[in-house]
Amino acid sequence: MAKRNRKAYPPVCEALPIPVIDNHTHLPVGNAPGAFGDERDYSHRPSEEIPPSIDEHLARMETCGIRGAITCGCELPEIPGHIELARAYSQKLWAAIAIHPNEAPLHQCITEKSPDGMEHGLDEHHRQYTLDDALAVVADHARDSSVVAIGETGLDYYRTGDAGKEAQKESFRAHIALAKELDLPLQIHDRDAHADVVDVLKAEGAPQRTVFHCFSGDVQLAHVCAEQGWFASFSGTLTYKGNDDLRAAFLVLPDELILLETDAPYLTPQEFRGQPNAPYVAAYTARAMSDIRHVSLDTWCETLSANTHVVYGL
Ligand SMILES: [Zn+2]
Repeated sequence: MAKRNRKAYPPVCEALPIPVIDNHTHLPVGNAPGAFGDERDYSHRPSEEIPPSIDEHLARMETCGIRGAITCGCELPEIPGHIELARAYSQKLWAAIAIHPNEAPLHQCITEKSPDGMEHGLDEHHRQYTLDDALAVVADHARDSSVVAIGETGLDYYRTGDAGKEAQKESFRAHIALAKELDLPLQIHDRDAHADVVDVLKAEGAPQRTVFHCFSGDVQLAHVCAEQGWFASFSGTLTYKGNDDLRAAFLVLPDELILLETDAPYLTPQEFRGQPNAPYVAAYTARAMSDIRHVSLDTWCETLSANTHVVYGL
């Protein structure tokens, strides 16, 4: 068997019968390889390892039946880049912006080691902007017409220890208020914090359109989402061998609350796990979803497309 190239992007696949949208991805911006306007020469790399340009991403999406993507900027310095990108490709790309839960404590100069042992250092933007200032910048940019969601915000008890929890909650509450004020959907990042995320949402009053991005809950959380009318957006993790509980949760949710995303460049589906991810790869996850639910791919793509329209108006 040929050895898998871990740095190579997955191959493009046959187009989905009905085009759908990757509703949460992180396209490269700023100084990242392949970012909008990047003119560096990557021709010395093997062809499958050359970072796709934005135009190449869009061409692959078209081939695979992915008709657009919402690109998420959730660290202060990269937010303008995502908006600029969405503005430049306004028919295919839209932006979601926020201060990521793991960024919130850093804006308060809280650098406690996280439960997984990760050391957190402060960057210039953390020192320059208090959490309040950073949230004000998000609120300012969120009024741009390319911004279709507030996110990702929420709670992450895997990458942030006890000292940072209050900052995360404060930031989460501010984003909930902003989403309601602007009548935008909210994309939630929930890692090892299901109960507290639900508590904060209930206490504050969830926005009309609330999405658990990269849903990682169990059947119990799926039932809560179903009761509340909260959406669950699934990434390639749905296909991971060990994730039977996630698939059980996926099956509990009603059709009309399910969305599709990649969370690229991470979380590439099982078949290509560990390789770089990109919006076009959402087509693989859409196929896996229809298999798991035992519905035809046509019907399933119609469902995903309709749900995306309900949440994002796209
Ligand atoms: Zn993300």
